[in-house]
Amino acid sequence: MDLYEYQGRELFDRHGLPVLDGGVATTPAEAREIAERLGGRVVVKAQVKVGGRGKAGGVKLADGVDEAQARATDILGMDIKGHTVHKVMVTTTAAITEEYYFSYLLDRANRTFLCIASTAGGMEIEQVAHDAPEKVVKLPIDANKGVDEATAREIVTKAAFPAEVAEQIVEIAQGLWKAFVAEDATLVEVNPLAKVDGGKVLLLDAKVTLDANADFRHPDHAQWEDKSAVDPLEQAAKAKDLNYVKLDGQVGIIGNGAGLVMSTLDVVAYAGEEFGGVKPANFLDIGGGASAAVMANGLEIVLSDPAVKSVFVNVFGGITACDAVANGIVQALDLLKQRGETVDKPLVVRLDGNNAEEGRRILDSANNPLVERVDTMDGAAKRAAELAAAGV
Ligand code: GDP
Ligand code: MN
Repeated sequence: MDLYEYQGRELFDRHGLPVLDGGVATTPAEAREIAERLGGRVVVKAQVKVGGRGKAGGVKLADGVDEAQARATDILGMDIKGHTVHKVMVTTTAAITEEYYFSYLLDRANRTFLCIASTAGGMEIEQVAHDAPEKVVKLPIDANKGVDEATAREIVTKAAFPAEVAEQIVEIAQGLWKAFVAEDATLVEVNPLAKVDGGKVLLLDAKVTLDANADFRHPDHAQWEDKSAVDPLEQAAKAKDLNYVKLDGQVGIIGNGAGLVMSTLDVVAYAGEEFGGVKPANFLDIGGGASAAVMANGLEIVLSDPAVKSVFVNVFGGITACDAVANGIVQALDLLKQRGETVDKPLVVRLDGNNAEEGRRILDSANNPLVERVDTMDGAAKRAAELAAAGV
């Protein structure tokens, strides 16, 4: 789960890291109230889960309450890279004298954690890495050892942070690591980590990703879930424990195994080019041991998407053999009928792997007019795309 900046700021604050005082507002009047409480100069920041808000005009300084309200009026409702601004954060502000970059993240490719630090912050780190790679320091962090004082000093030395901020950054590096571990984050990114007038170093931006696999350890993280931004179909799928992602095409996809489903998306998108650019409507992985009930839940979600014109069920039988999957499909369609759902969209089913012959026989003998069997993945993708194009 990605957090909004104001949530990340709260998380940092919780762990004693130096952030500016502030609050979050959904209306200009609320922004004004926060500015009143803070007194004087404030910064009004768009809360969207995308970077580059500064450049897009989503970060504005305000001198006093009237200006804070005016800037909130400007920013609320703004579109930043396709994200509508529904909330602004209002914080006190300090005059920035230097901007640095600091992050910890899970480095999946190298199976370790990584610290990335640079004295060239404020701008996108990818850009810095491209233009001046020598200014970006990457240090693997041992998961068992973590960031102790010696490691923090090593980071500060390697990244060449100025001497006058070194001690503060040694503290922040350790504190941020503690927060990263305690909250089960996979990313904490601070850009800018800023030196302000008077010499203090503050965390002025927060990009935090929490590991959803650890949610059970953090009941308090549920408060940060952004229900309004979640697609209603995705929400319904989540309630049924389905691994579903809504996409913007017309061919519903159901498969077993994330890898197979991913390649199914590619194959359908490719096949769809021939039929006026028909595309996959979703990602849905029903997993290895898919029962009839899971298949029914999956079909129900996919078929309830009004954009879906055909469905491609792509199954490779493994531990759960194709005959069980075929029975699952047949039963699932019955189950849906019993639940009073109208199933009137064509289904293309491809079964391969363990017990494929038996699975195909079961499908054929059920003789459902909506179900069409195609035995190759490419062929089935093409047929599903063709049916979707005809149904549009
Ligand atoms: P991003 O563009 O989405 O990464 O948003 P940031 O929070 O990083 O803000 C962009 C830029 O606005 C920063 O690099 C700073 O230069 C500036 N900025 C952000 N917060 C403050 C603040 O509290 N005070 C001042 N003076 N400038 C800020
Ligand atoms: Mn930033």
